[in-house]
Amino acid sequence: MKQVKCISCGKELSKGGVILKCPSCGKKTIVRCDHCRKVGVKYKCDCGFEGP
Ligand SMILES: [Zn+2]
Ligand SMILES: [Zn+2]
Repeated sequence: MKQVKCISCGKELSKGGVILKCPSCGKKTIVRCDHCRKVGVKYKCDCGFEGP
């Protein structure tokens, strides 16, 4: 399994994180750790989409 890092805090994802495709462009893979998901840290895609 290849390493994935949270897009918000840069931490390696261990468990409880989510991996999804950008809902706007559908190209970029958004990775968020459990912590950033809980506190609602924003992420930004290359296409300009920002999401909670
Ligand atoms: Zn994070
Ligand atoms: Zn995007």
